[in-house]
Amino acid sequence: MTNSTNLIASIFRKEVLAMSAYKVADAQGLIKLDAMENPYNWPEDIKKDWLESLKECQLNRYPDPESRQLTQTIKRLNQIPGQFEVLLGNGSDEIIQMLLMALPATASVLAPVPGFVMYKQLSDCLGLSYLGIPLLADTFDLDLPAMLDAIQQHQPSVIFLAYPNNPTGNLFSETAIQEIIKTAEGLVVIDEAYAPFANASFINTLKQYDNLLVMRTISKLGLAGLRLGYIIGNPAIIEQLNKIRLPYNINSLTQISADFALSNKTLFDQQTQKICAERAQVFKQLNVLEGITAYPSAANFILFRTPKNKASEIFLSIRQQGVLIKNLSTQGGLLSDCLRVTIGKPEENLAFLTALRNSQ
Ligand code: PMP
Repeated sequence: MTNSTNLIASIFRKEVLAMSAYKVADAQGLIKLDAMENPYNWPEDIKKDWLESLKECQLNRYPDPESRQLTQTIKRLNQIPGQFEVLLGNGSDEIIQMLLMALPATASVLAPVPGFVMYKQLSDCLGLSYLGIPLLADTFDLDLPAMLDAIQQHQPSVIFLAYPNNPTGNLFSETAIQEIIKTAEGLVVIDEAYAPFANASFINTLKQYDNLLVMRTISKLGLAGLRLGYIIGNPAIIEQLNKIRLPYNINSLTQISADFALSNKTLFDQQTQKICAERAQVFKQLNVLEGITAYPSAANFILFRTPKNKASEIFLSIRQQGVLIKNLSTQGGLLSDCLRVTIGKPEENLAFLTALRNSQ
């Protein structure tokens, strides 16, 4: 045992030794409202057409290394101007990884906190210096002076801004983001994972700034199982990232299925509308509960604050009643006493609200 401990310590980088693996909670037998998934499946006729489209897939061959057809579909659907390029990733997680792997070892990465955990996790893993700048406590908006100070002092190679932000759900002030892009000498990635629920985007701003990139995923739209994200930007930047990308990172089944699904986008638009309508209901219901403060959300989840030091107890009680949400209170800081619920089907949301009421 001692030998193997020595072996591990002598082989792996200290950053890796210090990390913990990303844990996904076991949702077996529970109503799953923890991971920002779309709760709706597809109607039978669409499933049938999808299975039909898969018949042409040649699993004996490697996938198209450039995912040409899918890339065209993504460009068309997002009305991406011709001067920009798109790079696909095995989830946007992989794109964050590619981007960070391309940086020098001395680089720093900046993001507001609380934010999406992978920016830090991947920076730590690669030994990069991660700078988390706290959001404003009352609104969860960007602390612009603090962000600009940190940019000037540390000159980060990459700044990540999730728009809307996970886990707070809000859209940061657009003018603050523009200031950050103008001040930054490094890249600014606007992570639009929750764009389908937000009606807001920086895609049309791309043409104004050479250092701006917009990243998206199809996970929250309703295709989390396919693992597909993409980043849009200046072709000279995309060309560098493409060198880091593994040749067949988007498998054949994902290429065909995503192309099929995105070509049936009205289905997702309808589902998205239902989710947004439910979000309004859940928000209202949460805020009438004694001791609960729900924060306005432009995403498919809601962050809410529970009475002091009660979050973990409430989380466990809700789970005991058959509903899995996310306990963020253990992260501390601005997330003390906070839980996050993903918007599900009406009956799932009702089960959650009932469980929350019973837990208090
Ligand atoms: N960005 C943000 C802000 C997210 O919340 C998530 C997933 N929770 C991702 C990126 C990663 O998405 P995926 O890898 O599924 O594309």
